[in-house]
Amino acid sequence: MEAKDWKFRANPVLKAASVFSIARAIGDVKANLDPCDQRLVIPLSVGDPSIFPCFRTAQVAEDAVIDALRSANFNGYAPKSGILQAKRSLAGYLSYNLPYKLSPDDVYVTVGAKQAIEVVLTALRRPDANILLPKPGYPAYEALSVINHLEVRHFDLLQEKNWEVDLNGIQKLADDKTVAMVIINPGNPCGNVFTRDHLEKIAETAKKLGILVIADEAYGHLTFGSNQFMPMGMFGNIAPVLTIGSLSKRWMVPGWRIGWIARSDPDGIFEEQGIVECIKRSLIVNTEAATFIQAALPQILENTTEDFFLKTINILRKDADMCYEWLKEIPCFTCLQKPQGSLFLMVKLDLSRLQDINDDFDFCSKLAKEESVILLPGSVLRMKNWEANGVTELITYVMD
Ligand SMILES: *Cc1c(COP(=O)(O)O)cnc(C)c1O
Repeated sequence: MEAKDWKFRANPVLKAASVFSIARAIGDVKANLDPCDQRLVIPLSVGDPSIFPCFRTAQVAEDAVIDALRSANFNGYAPKSGILQAKRSLAGYLSYNLPYKLSPDDVYVTVGAKQAIEVVLTALRRPDANILLPKPGYPAYEALSVINHLEVRHFDLLQEKNWEVDLNGIQKLADDKTVAMVIINPGNPCGNVFTRDHLEKIAETAKKLGILVIADEAYGHLTFGSNQFMPMGMFGNIAPVLTIGSLSKRWMVPGWRIGWIARSDPDGIFEEQGIVECIKRSLIVNTEAATFIQAALPQILENTTEDFFLKTINILRKDADMCYEWLKEIPCFTCLQKPQGSLFLMVKLDLSRLQDINDDFDFCSKLAKEESVILLPGSVLRMKNWEANGVTELITYVMD
């Protein structure tokens, strides 16, 4: 039988989607590494802090997981929206700075923030619906939107305004098929942190457009500059908010695969629109987070000490300062703002100051080849001639 006689074919969406370009871009950049170069590779392109020894999780967290595992009480399947004690402790943790308290019913446990994104997008999918995503942003939104047949429309983050959302642009992009906008705060990849005032304006814009806000707070509390972290849920009374988060970044354990969705919607709009039921159904067809990790959540969320968080923040602040100062000394880079949160920053590349470099991708490839340093070309985030750097990773290298 010939190939053409087999009836199965690749899914055209997965086959075509340019949104899967990050892994490929990193692979392509890494392919330029010189195998004879004895120096350690400096991987500034990864968002996994746990690979660096200075970022070990809190002992309380390790103990909580061990205790839950050893108890033999958590070897079974968990309920689809999460076990009650996990939801209860999450509701307490996520009520931080909110003008009202979340209840365990407002919270769903997921397999990391990534599954939370998938569950939310699945719940929102409707024929012809579109969703507004930040540019630059986190590529999983684009990939999962495309898979879910949600049309993607990008709004800009304005670099000159500390990467704030282009609220005027959003109003031009949206139409009667727009269902939601996504914000990532603290920001990946820009390292910015929105002010309370800006969050309120975002909520007002969403209300005007009749859409919900998906607030990705994967880096919640990971701030080290002048703007403090404020949860978007503060403004759930203006427009309904679905908050996405996880232990992955703040506790430095992305491999534990535990995250959440929280509804901040004191007026019950999600219930009215049938979204609550859809989220539950989406969770039913998805898989649940490991039961013993869920069981460890109350101890982790309630007993991790301030020392642990401070240590992380201090390392990140030092790293960010160093990265920013060093970048300023390199003439071909412009980095207008020092990062204030998350693990990343974006720098603009000035090609006119470089010889024989065609674009950001070419720059990253040659940097890998000549210096064994891996950066992520901005064009994979639709930001041609920018580079995305991990702040943490650089500093760790310095410390070694
Ligand atoms: C890392 C990251 C996620 C995914 O987090 P997991 O909990 O590891 O699934 C989601 N959103 C953003 C912005 C991230 O950087």
